[in-house]
Amino acid sequence: MRPLTLLIKPAAGLCNMNCRYCFYRSACEGRDNGVMSRRTVDALLRKVREYRPSSLTVLFQGGEPTLAGTDFYRYFIAGVRAAVPAPTSFGLQTNGLLIDDEWADLFREHGFLIGLSLDGDRATNDRYRRDHRGESVFDRVMNAAGTLERRGVEFNILSVIDGENAGDIERTWRFFKESGFRFLQFIPCLEEGSGVSLSPQRYEAFLKQSFDLWYDDWRKGDYISVRHIDNYVGILMGRPPENCAMCGVCGSYFVAEANGDLYPCDFYCKEEYRVGTVFDATPFAVGEKHRAFIEQSYLIHERCRSCRYYPLCRGGCRRDRINGLTENRYCEAYTRFFGYAFDRMAAVAESLSGTL
Ligand code: SF4
Ligand code: SF4
Ligand code: SF4
Repeated sequence: MRPLTLLIKPAAGLCNMNCRYCFYRSACEGRDNGVMSRRTVDALLRKVREYRPSSLTVLFQGGEPTLAGTDFYRYFIAGVRAAVPAPTSFGLQTNGLLIDDEWADLFREHGFLIGLSLDGDRATNDRYRRDHRGESVFDRVMNAAGTLERRGVEFNILSVIDGENAGDIERTWRFFKESGFRFLQFIPCLEEGSGVSLSPQRYEAFLKQSFDLWYDDWRKGDYISVRHIDNYVGILMGRPPENCAMCGVCGSYFVAEANGDLYPCDFYCKEEYRVGTVFDATPFAVGEKHRAFIEQSYLIHERCRSCRYYPLCRGGCRRDRINGLTENRYCEAYTRFFGYAFDRMAAVAESLSGTL
């Protein structure tokens, strides 16, 4: 028996926002977008049961996954409880616009970990994250955060780092701290053609500045959880990274689209990468096409082979690789960042190892 991780898109590419850097919107163009049907949920859960996972992790994403409605989630969760004896954890990534007490209570009841998208303060968030009328969503997202907090739901903030805000992460850092947000995940905007993606220089500036802010607070006993830094420190403490983009090889998880189609990665939900559907006989057995996708990430550039930071970086995410999927286009940013922060990261790791 093996663990199974499913990333499910119950509302496909439907979204009540219109962010300028949205990569998923373009991936869904021309598709029949709609909410996952009961028939597809039933088929998916039947196949999960037959797979007999040792544990199940279900992450809901979009588009905007709350557009599927609370009834969808009640049906899905009841189906999981009835069909899957393995321990199951749920997560959901949302833009927060629909979050109210009913949603929050559903999340809390089933132990969901929520990722709430908010790029920073009002001006920062308004820059690229707006609704279809071009209006600000800042107040609605802050209300959602308040609701989640009040109803006892665990959540972290997902903040997209783009070419604009990367150079002034201090402003965003201060805002999140003042707002009481202590679990942060920064997501570099790599969507080429969006006009806002990160240059390697900007990415380097962001990595350095965010580390300085994190480290200063850590030294004062004010620990803020930042996913990529937690992972680096964890690696130095001998732990495996929990983020596949930091593992050096692609993870074997499945993305299930609303129509039941399966893909090997959220960034590769395109027809040429489709690895099956939940209606196949054994959809969660990693087949030849899926294996080939994963194996392509095994390629290691010769510069990486002799790089002293390889144990931390591992060549990065396949999505960032160029030249036959070997060379990371942010290599220089990573090299300089690790050179800048390595000693301090190692000191934190050593200090934490002594206290565990
Ligand atoms: S909220 Fe997410 S899915 Fe919706 S437009 Fe913005 S980035 Fe895209
Ligand atoms: S492309 Fe990146 S995010 Fe996707 S599975 Fe591979 S390492 Fe993970
Ligand atoms: S920093 Fe560059 S050379 Fe070193 S492992 Fe990362 S991508 Fe490879």
